[in-house]
Amino acid sequence: MITLATSPVQIRPMNDKISEQSGSVVSGHSRYDEAWRIDLSDFPAVRAEGEVYSPTADQLERLRRVSEILEDASAEEILRWAIDTFYPSLTMATAFGPEGCVILSILAELQPKVRVFNLDTGYQFPETLQLRDRIAQKYGIDVVLAKPELSVEEYEKCHGGPVYKVNPDRCCFDRKVQVLKREVVGYRAWISGIRRDQSPHRANAPIVGWDKKFGLVKINPLARWTKNQVWQRIMDEDIPYNPLHDQGYPSIGCWPCTRPVLLGEDERAGRWSGTAKTECGLHLVDDQPSPPPTMYGQI
Ligand code: SF4
Repeated sequence: MITLATSPVQIRPMNDKISEQSGSVVSGHSRYDEAWRIDLSDFPAVRAEGEVYSPTADQLERLRRVSEILEDASAEEILRWAIDTFYPSLTMATAFGPEGCVILSILAELQPKVRVFNLDTGYQFPETLQLRDRIAQKYGIDVVLAKPELSVEEYEKCHGGPVYKVNPDRCCFDRKVQVLKREVVGYRAWISGIRRDQSPHRANAPIVGWDKKFGLVKINPLARWTKNQVWQRIMDEDIPYNPLHDQGYPSIGCWPCTRPVLLGEDERAGRWSGTAKTECGLHLVDDQPSPPPTMYGQI
């Protein structure tokens, strides 16, 4: 049962026109109606790369309340709310994992014009990039490849070798975190495909929350889903997925930092295997300092 907070929040009248702006259909939401009525119009877009807005306690309380209301809503309902509330100032990052593919299949129905981007580090598997084309063919969604400033060749030359070998935190920071900072400029909210049961870091991910690292609202429509639920949806609806999943890779990132997992291993055990690193830094809740320079030398 949903327990609602008693503190006052700003409520938007139900005849609000925002759904007409988005072009999405607001269905009879019944029990989730209140999420649509909580006014989030004062959440600004990210104004410049790395410039992080600090929300007020009242704003955070409204986000918490929306998240609470949508806690047991379907992914469709959560995404419909996100579109009605933020589109066109809504974006999504995907690495074309199974969760991302499920979300893209839903966006194709609700609002295929949401801008979706992939952090193209230059180290992705060819199968991952081919999946982008299959998604475009099936759903008409062209995922933008967001690249770091330096090509792989330039980056490795600049650092004297592959940074992922000596300082993967630095490599992820330069080739993923910094690129995401750039890509969210101009947007008020972003969608991610993380699930709570993927790792301890993700266990407390809200459905809707404030991303203090990137300075905008973050929506996790599959936070409550299990891996089995994701794959059931993929099978039921014939959603395209990365063929490497059939070759022992449950979680796929860049090729230098991903290996197949063995029977009984955790689904993310193949990521940065042999190191203490478990996350690329995009979804870490706490503020993380910039990683140190590499042993190769300058940054
Ligand atoms: Fe670099 Fe590996 Fe991170 Fe990819 S996953 S950005 S190769 S450290």
